[in-house]
Amino acid sequence: MWIDSHCHLNHKNLSKLGELDEIIATAREAKVDKMLTICCEIHREYEALKQIAEKYDIWATVGTHPHDAAHEAEMEYTTEDIVNFTKHPRIVGIGETGLDYFYKHSPKEEQHENFRKHIRAAIETELPLIIHTRDSDEDIIRLLKEEGQGDKRLKGVLHCFSGGLDLAQAGLDLDFYISFSGIVTFEKAGELRDVARAMPIDKILVETDSPYLAPVPLRGKVNQPANVVRTGELVAQLKQMPVADFAKQTSDNFYELFSKAKSVA
Ligand SMILES: [Zn+2]
Repeated sequence: MWIDSHCHLNHKNLSKLGELDEIIATAREAKVDKMLTICCEIHREYEALKQIAEKYDIWATVGTHPHDAAHEAEMEYTTEDIVNFTKHPRIVGIGETGLDYFYKHSPKEEQHENFRKHIRAAIETELPLIIHTRDSDEDIIRLLKEEGQGDKRLKGVLHCFSGGLDLAQAGLDLDFYISFSGIVTFEKAGELRDVARAMPIDKILVETDSPYLAPVPLRGKVNQPANVVRTGELVAQLKQMPVADFAKQTSDNFYELFSKAKSVA
């Protein structure tokens, strides 16, 4: 069994592939039984994601993507609000959040304030943080350390990992997991495949980030949770592990990190 640790089932593009019923059925035919559908904007997505999670017996998260930090600042959500949003049994993580200096859709200060709020909520709830980082690795690690202060309750995942070994190691030092998406299958991603080879097997997750980032040979198409198998097969090969064992290992890793998911599995 596979778990897609990061997808966006409510994002518009996905509907080009059909109804959500079909997309979930296709995933389950491919043995992707479970998935975590990720929130980017609380005020627009939280209610919808909760309903999707209930309907399909999967899980969701709550949080504000760095792209949407400025926009969502108008809603004035506090750390306490985020904590309250996690009380639903199927909300098992906080994010996606983080920093993005590549697109800079939101000013840095607002991204920082947004990220810090989420770190505090993660510590308070002991739920994992789902982190997005682009051209902002140093600040990601710095803010995690500043807010975290070595607190063991702080845990999480560097999602859609595309950084180098240094960032991966800094993540591991904070006891974070590293999640590989379809990017690892891209022809030019040799360095990323080296990172995957070097990662401890009990710290690896796999994801699609669908509807984005379809793996080879589907590159450029709308992505869907079923395709996590392609990424998983490739990383299993890099780890020189039978595919079934790798699927089980990454599912176990998922439950280890997202331990709240076990109670509604
Ligand atoms: Zn995402």
